[in-house]
Amino acid sequence: MANRTIYLDNAATTKTSRRAIEAMLPYFDGVYGNPSSLHSAGQAAAEALQNARERVAACLGCTAREITFTSGGSEADNQAIISAAKRGERQGKKRIISTKIEHHAVLHTLKKLESEGFSVTLLDVDGNGLLDPQQVEDAISADTCLVTVMFANNEIGTVEPIAEIGAICRRKGVLFHTDAVQAVGHLPIDVSAQNIDLLSLSAHKFHGPKGVGVLYARKGVPLTNVIEGGAQERGKRAGTENLPAIMGMASALEDACASLEGSAKKLAALRDRLIAGLSEIPRSVLNGGRERRLPGNVNFCFEGIEGESLLLLLDDKGIAASSGSACTSGSLDPSHVLLAIGRPHEIAHGSLRLTLSEETTEEEIEYTIEAVKEVVAYLRSISPVWRDLQSGKRDYIIK
Ligand SMILES: *Cc1c(COP(=O)(O)O)cnc(C)c1O
Repeated sequence: MANRTIYLDNAATTKTSRRAIEAMLPYFDGVYGNPSSLHSAGQAAAEALQNARERVAACLGCTAREITFTSGGSEADNQAIISAAKRGERQGKKRIISTKIEHHAVLHTLKKLESEGFSVTLLDVDGNGLLDPQQVEDAISADTCLVTVMFANNEIGTVEPIAEIGAICRRKGVLFHTDAVQAVGHLPIDVSAQNIDLLSLSAHKFHGPKGVGVLYARKGVPLTNVIEGGAQERGKRAGTENLPAIMGMASALEDACASLEGSAKKLAALRDRLIAGLSEIPRSVLNGGRERRLPGNVNFCFEGIEGESLLLLLDDKGIAASSGSACTSGSLDPSHVLLAIGRPHEIAHGSLRLTLSEETTEEEIEYTIEAVKEVVAYLRSISPVWRDLQSGKRDYIIK
């Protein structure tokens, strides 16, 4: 099996589906007009764009006018947060509430706003990465303009109580944004039932193309431009629309939503088998809870193991995995998410994230369990840290 890649890094990105690629093709050299042009080639493109907007809206439970196409999840996060902050500023409200486990697209935008005079409260999560809605209720004050909480965590897979948090924000009159990049196409989404005012999604996390996403903004929530220029997207996001990518995204989103229930069930069964298999490794610990977990997410720490070497050796065995998030691997900083759930620095470096897709097979999961067991045993056999742990010179962190 080692001459074929076992791709278990679907939280970083997914393979573009054949159907999404086919949905894109006519818009490169067939319907290639600029949707802003008045001639019929332009109008054909404008019609396709409107069609995609309506199909995306139907998947989220909103109207087409509430959809803004962006270059992806990061841009949607930036624009959602900046828009809510600017609205707050106009109303004299300059406090934003979020969590310690958000994606950097959210955390770094908040950092920037902090340097512009906003106050940011980052709430703690519990040992499973879960936020208690009561924490949000307690944190909201008269000067709060925005609560932003991710739908599901990209590293440890925790699914947050979004509808409950949304209900609190609605009752208190505070805007609620959710980074739903890991959730859309994998969990049921209904922006009105879940009380969501602003939502970010990204096509390449559900088998659509890279470089395209959506910002949903509930009717009446004013958006601030992050990209200035022409009047595209009702004047809220300048730049000629990436029509092929948008068509591919609409197709991938419809497919993902149509097969969501069956696919979640299948993935959860494979995920639980993988968790059971890796739990047999001595001094290992699952990061994130077993309940309220994304159907395709597995994340472990192994005592005495460094994440980077584990990844390289798994790659040699044909397994594509990840340590922490793609954005932090390659840097020496331990994952902020693992630190937030209480993992000490020493082991927050040594995490392994395996994220599945609809194409993952039972055979691949069994092969992966054996491969991880072998690699962990090998790395421990040459690790001075492991020797010290075994001889009692050092205390185990993982019981
Ligand atoms: C991937 C990801 C993003 C960034 O999306 P891009 O389209 O790659 O910019 C943001 N938030 C979460 C939770 C993600 O997993």
